[in-house]
Formats: sequence, structure tokens, C-alpha cells
Amino acid sequence: MAVPEHTPTPVSLPPSPPPYRGRFAPSPTGPLHLGSVVTALASFLDARAHQGTWLVRIEDLDPPREDPAAASTILHTLERLGLHWDETVTYQSTRNAAYEEALNTLQTQHLLYHCRCSRSELGSSAIYPGTCRHLALNPTEPTALRCRVPASIFSFSDRLQGLQVQQLDADVGDFVLLRKEGLFSYQLAVVVDDGWQGITDIVRGIDLLDSTPRQLFLQHGLQLPCPRYAHVPVVVDEQGQKLSKQQKATPITSADPATTLITALHLLHQQPSPELAKATVSEILAWAIAVWQPIRLTGLHTLTLW
Ligand code: GLU
Repeated sequence: MAVPEHTPTPVSLPPSPPPYRGRFAPSPTGPLHLGSVVTALASFLDARAHQGTWLVRIEDLDPPREDPAAASTILHTLERLGLHWDETVTYQSTRNAAYEEALNTLQTQHLLYHCRCSRSELGSSAIYPGTCRHLALNPTEPTALRCRVPASIFSFSDRLQGLQVQQLDADVGDFVLLRKEGLFSYQLAVVVDDGWQGITDIVRGIDLLDSTPRQLFLQHGLQLPCPRYAHVPVVVDEQGQKLSKQQKATPITSADPATTLITALHLLHQQPSPELAKATVSEILAWAIAVWQPIRLTGLHTLTLW
């Protein structure tokens, strides 16, 4: 019997998720210290364990706070640690046109207003009281640009810290996107660049957990996709103080990168075996990528060696 001719019906598959793209985005305010190496390593391992792309972006938005030598020192240290990035390093100082365009997009949605309040007028109040919100200033003098936040709840599920919920108006208030001195804010630039670079996964320090709902709000206004987030605990010293460049935490020298990596892996609860002490940088990283278990950091806010 003749087999009837059969045209196969096309099967429609669900769209596959975009391939993993992660990044490490240091501000060049000083050399890397152990805390920033831990964050860089976590983000690198997560990207490599997902066969992803890993980028480095220098967030040089605030020249008065920066050290002119820091960007190249940071890049040199990353290279010595074997944390090799894919694609060209982006410098935020070259991206003003994109930030300007993003402000225009937000302006067309009436989300921005001029604010002439000075830091001293605002005092220590963490939440902006909305002084300039309804003044519709059309200033001739330089002012800041603030964005009008809605009385809405923004929530997301962090891979390590679980469900996070913030009501932007009550918890944060209207925040600055362009400073009076003409400098773009971190919140604006990070959202524009993560969107532009197609970042799917952000692995960064838990000190930025509170900023994330503001970034979700801006992503929405700029019609950018929302990445997945994993906020890694911060490294603290014996007194429980966060290691930071501002506190002049001991910089990582490039002298013994293998030992630095092993220390960072201990801090990240990845339990490197004693035999790794004799391994090379690339052997240590190959081991760490193969066994990477971020789940061991679930719910932790601090990491300590002491
Ligand atoms: N530039 C920020 C910092 O050095 C990190 C920004 C981010 O990862 O979103 O703390």
C-alpha cells in the first residue's frame, strides 16, 4: 500500500532564554581589595559555570572621587588573577550621549523634574521630602534632575537573598539621575549600560541590594529587560566593618594571585581543597568553575575569614 505523502507540521518551541551575559563593574576609586576580588570572582565563576560571556565595565562617572591610576591597576589585577574578560572594556565616561538619551526618554513620560535643593538643605533625611516635585521649575541656574517615583511596590527574587520588596515612594523617595554638577548618577548609568550590553545576570555586592528596585523602575521606564540578580555577601573585617576602598582596605597586590584566589574561594564557601595550594591560577579557576555552588551563600549578608 502506498504511504500517503506527509508534510510534517512545524513544531513551535518556546523561545530559548538569551545566552548568559554577566559583568563586573568596578568604580575606579582605588585598587581592588579582598572584598572586591570576592565579588569579581563570584561574578566570573557564575558566568563561566553557565558557559556565559563575562564583561568588565569601568564605572568612571564621578571624577572627583576617582583615582586616575585605579582603572588600569584594577584591570591589571584582574588579569593576574586569571579573570580574563570577553569583549572590550567599557568606560562609562564615554557613554554620556546614551545617558542623555535615556533622560530624554524618561522626560517624555513626565518622570523627571528639576530640583534645586542643596545637600545642606536636605540635611540627613534619607528620603527626599519632595520639596521641588510640584514647583515645575524652569531654571536658568544648574539644578539636579530627579525622577518622580510612583507609590508602587517593586519586587524581585534574588538568587541568593530571596524575595525583595520595596515601596519606592515610602522607602526611597524621588532620586537624582543627574547631579547639579552635570554628573549622571550611578542608578541611571548602570541601568542604561546593563541594557545596552545585554546583561542577563548581575552578580554583585549585597550593598547594592537596596538600589535594585530603583533600577527595576528605570528599566521599566526605558523598556529594558530585567536581568536576574544575585547579591553576594560582603567581606567584613574582625570588627564587622565592610572592607571598602574608602576605608583604605589593604589593596590586593598582584604578587601571589593563586593565594588570593584560594582566600577568596574560602570566603565564598567553596571549600577549596588543601592540594589546590600548589596549583596554578588557571588550575584553581578551572576547579572553581567546575564546582561553583552559589547556593552555599544563600541568605548570608557577610563573609568573614576571622
Ligand atoms: N560600580 C559599583 C561599585 O563599584 C558596582 C555597580 C554594580 O555592580 O551594579 O560598587
